[in-house]
Amino acid sequence: MPKKNILLLAGDGIGPEIMAEVKKVIDWFNTNKKLSLEISEELVGGASFDENGTPLTDQVLFKAMDSNAVLLAAVGGPKWDDVEFSKKPERALLRLRKEMRLFANLRPAICFEELVSASTLKPEIISGLDILIVRELTGGIYFGEPRGIEHIENGDRKGINTHVYTSKEIRRVAKVAFDLALKRNLKVTSADKSNVMEAGLLWKEEVQKLYDDSKEYKSIELSHMLADNLAMQLVRNPKQFDVIVTDNLFGDMLSDEAAMLTGSLGMLPSASLSEKDKHGRIRSMYEPCHGSAPDIAGKGIANPIAMILSFAMALKYSLDFDEESDLLNEVVKEVLKDGLRTADIMEKGKQQVSTSEMGDAIIAKLNNKI
Ligand code: NAD
Repeated sequence: MPKKNILLLAGDGIGPEIMAEVKKVIDWFNTNKKLSLEISEELVGGASFDENGTPLTDQVLFKAMDSNAVLLAAVGGPKWDDVEFSKKPERALLRLRKEMRLFANLRPAICFEELVSASTLKPEIISGLDILIVRELTGGIYFGEPRGIEHIENGDRKGINTHVYTSKEIRRVAKVAFDLALKRNLKVTSADKSNVMEAGLLWKEEVQKLYDDSKEYKSIELSHMLADNLAMQLVRNPKQFDVIVTDNLFGDMLSDEAAMLTGSLGMLPSASLSEKDKHGRIRSMYEPCHGSAPDIAGKGIANPIAMILSFAMALKYSLDFDEESDLLNEVVKEVLKDGLRTADIMEKGKQQVSTSEMGDAIIAKLNNKI
């Protein structure tokens, strides 16, 4: 089997603790499923700043560009609060996303049956939830020009941002959503504000046009929804959705809302993907949705599951190991079913375990599958 390179960027706070558990899982797959995954590890964020004076060296960036997948745990923490803006740990993330051209951000919101009570919604609304938000990540109002704060007459000031999208940018992210829906439940909902924004109208028209022009998507049911209504529907009846595709701004908010439907930050993975380059390669980065959790760093109590599920996403979307990805998702569910919980998801009557005990329990379940 050809070797595949995975770059591990553990970063700061709980990053190294949760990455250690992923390394166990990767080792298991290499030993027992002969996946030939070659890992290398580098510094990022505050850890890189301390060592190199920058949160991301060019050498690490090039390595990331050259990898089959990057797994990043988390960056940041109070230690670097006074560092100048351009050197802050979080700048590493933005630079990686920008240079790797990661335009599609995939955020699943899955409710694990065993954690149904962690949600603030009623169990019948949330039980069995499995939706995927595809957020455009490199365009829209966060990047549009002109932007800035200007002085105007009478000592007043004006803040400007520009919401701008081209047809190409809309079509490429819509294509990602349609392709994913083909592998899932054949339903795409596109969210925009076409009632009040021209860029929103273009969004709606281009998504529809791509759908109408593509025979391969005929089995998919496409609908359009105003982003504010979608925000409401997500808490009213989230199970009506399968894949949701939306722009950078609405995606930022809707994906956080969808994630919190499940109630547990330590469980949520994410993926960011580029377009195919001329060699047919897609660049990708996989991260848990949570941050570096400095309040619990070094205590051995962090939940490694979001990180491990991020690796499961990498197996599926970058490494072409669908079966292995399904297996990993399955054993995580089994461990939860057995009642094992890290502190963040602990409930009465369950067994509290440490970060490494959770990793070991996942490995033990994998061993049962040989
Ligand atoms: P956070 O996600 O780090 O933590 C929020 C709360 O959730 C904390 O109480 C934390 O203990 C808990 N938590 C988070 N992940 C957990 C896990 N795996 N297991 C158990 N508990 C967990 O968010 P924050 O406190 O706002 O930010 C802390 C630092 O992380 C900041 O410097 C921020 O900039 C950075 N951050 C980084 C990323 C990233 O690297 N992608 C994302 C968000 C925040």
